[in-house]
Amino acid sequence: MIAACHVNHGDGCSRCPDALVETSFSHATRAADLIAMAEEPADLLVVGAGVTGAGVARDAAMRGIRTALIDKGDFGSGTSGRSSRLIHGGLRYLELGNWHLVLEASRERRTLLRIAPHLVWPRSFIFPVHAGGRVPRWKLAAGLWLYDILALLRNVRSHRMLGKRSLLRTEPALREHGLRGGARYFDAQCNDGRLALGNARDARRHGAQVANYVRVDRFALSDGQVRGVHATDVLSGATLTIRALTVVNATGPWSDGLRAQLGDPPVLRRTKGAHVAVPRERVGNREAITITSPIDGRVMFILPWGDLAYIGTTDTDSDASPDDVWVTAEDVIYLLRSANAYFPDARLGPADVRSTWAGLRSLLATADASDPGRVSREHRVLVGAGGLVSVVGGKLTTYRSMAAETVDLVARRLHALDGRPTPPRALTDREPLPGGEVRDLELLIGELEREGTARQVAERLVRTYGAEAAAVARVARAEPALGRPIAEGHPSVRAELLHATRREMAMTLCDLLIRRTQVFYEADRHGLPEAPALVDLAAEELGWSAQRKAKELADYLAMVDRSLGFRLGIPARAPDVSPP
Ligand SMILES: Cc1cc2nc3c(=O)[nH]c(=O)nc-3n(C[C@H](O)[C@H](O)[C@H](O)COP(=O)(O)OP(=O)(O)OC[C@H]3O[C@@H](n4cnc5c(N)ncnc54)[C@H](O)[C@@H]3O)c2cc1C
Repeated sequence: MIAACHVNHGDGCSRCPDALVETSFSHATRAADLIAMAEEPADLLVVGAGVTGAGVARDAAMRGIRTALIDKGDFGSGTSGRSSRLIHGGLRYLELGNWHLVLEASRERRTLLRIAPHLVWPRSFIFPVHAGGRVPRWKLAAGLWLYDILALLRNVRSHRMLGKRSLLRTEPALREHGLRGGARYFDAQCNDGRLALGNARDARRHGAQVANYVRVDRFALSDGQVRGVHATDVLSGATLTIRALTVVNATGPWSDGLRAQLGDPPVLRRTKGAHVAVPRERVGNREAITITSPIDGRVMFILPWGDLAYIGTTDTDSDASPDDVWVTAEDVIYLLRSANAYFPDARLGPADVRSTWAGLRSLLATADASDPGRVSREHRVLVGAGGLVSVVGGKLTTYRSMAAETVDLVARRLHALDGRPTPPRALTDREPLPGGEVRDLELLIGELEREGTARQVAERLVRTYGAEAAAVARVARAEPALGRPIAEGHPSVRAELLHATRREMAMTLCDLLIRRTQVFYEADRHGLPEAPALVDLAAEELGWSAQRKAKELADYLAMVDRSLGFRLGIPARAPDVSPP
């Protein structure tokens, strides 16, 4: 829908060239959808708009099922925005004999590279082998052959074993002592939070009603069957009842909590995973590096992210609330010690850490209470008390196939309820996600450059927004104030904030700076010096009062403090982050 400038910037408004005036996913559509949800029952209500719930809503809407999607926070603000950002076959699962999962994940990796080339991109990994390491060279070679075969020989590229010399030519900063060689293999990296957002947007494009910041308080029951929810609009405090013939619980690590309301037993084992981001030049890695931690032999990664490298992850059992998961001093020391063992000259210390994030994995609990790293990453679709459908476990990588399986079950239940025909499976693996209509990112970057956008900005815009980058770039060029960086030294531009409020339903400053633009993780000072000006810009779009602006600033500051709060737990004397 193309509308007139909806924020009254006046005639000839340079902020609103046609492409940006489309208000298809914004505070305005949220308000309209909430009214519609309260008025008319849906066939399906999906609770939780992480990648799983958003994927379920997209799939169901594409099959013509009348669908509503809500989340108590922002899209991807749960686990789906705190992952290791890998779309991977799962080399590690081979050791566990979980070939079926590798086969499925490899197929999904291929699909996501195709339908969202701006959000999922190929990444080459170096796996070094040192004397005495947990994975010897022969085992790595055998594993990588199998890995490529399970990708049906259609991985990005096939792996290659490397001798010590060529490995050091590739990664000169790696520890040479004891190095026996290694391998290069391929997987993919992604912008995890934006993958959830892209699915939610596309769900609405196919007819779903979608609202973030709507919390389910309890289920609405009729004859013992779940027929909707009583919920609260977290932003306004208003309560509402949303009726639906079927309800899917896609709340990741919160799932057991909702199931418990109906008397269902827990099915999850939750483990915490932490990451730290440091300037990449401090580490010295050129490609992604797969390591086995010398502390406990766990597989970990050091991953490039622009001029940063992030190191992760830990895997420890946790009974923390999923609302309150942060990186501790202990996590930081473990991650830095492990990285320092492979890049000894880096001598990374806590002061190098620019940002951190942590999430809870929701793994299927098994009788075997062994090492968390060995617990299966498979998923299950369960029907619980009152007919509540829960989709639990799984991975970011396999969200699309999990969603298809969940919607198959929903379609069967709707058929059983009112005899309607079961729709055919949706082509979620064919239709691109928003912005994914672009085939050649480099070509688009070149076009933006020719139109006057600086190379670094063009690259960022295309790799974030895909085919929609041109619209953002046009706004940035039309009004110099909107062409300025969101945070000094960061390649983002303020026009992105407009795009985020008008097309991506950003509702808070945290949405804008954490999940839409990643300034929180990437910018040297997290955009704090600029935050008052940014909140003014957002206030103009979203109609915030002075009091609301102060709250938004305080909330953002609190998030930055929590992300770097581990510093308070670091002992006064310099902690030992030297290799074990
Ligand atoms: C540290 C870590 C690293 C990982 N790395 C990878 C990786 O590299 N690759 C990979 O494939 N997988 C990875 N995973 C797994 C992957 O991130 C998860 O499987 C996936 O994100 C789960 O998505 P989800 O939508 O099921 O859950 P979530 O993303 O947690 O979404 C659940 C949503 O439910 C909402 N919610 C909760 N309660 C309510 C309520 N009462 N009302 C309304 N909404 C509610 C929450 O706000 C939340 O947004 C990793 C996981 C962790 C923890």
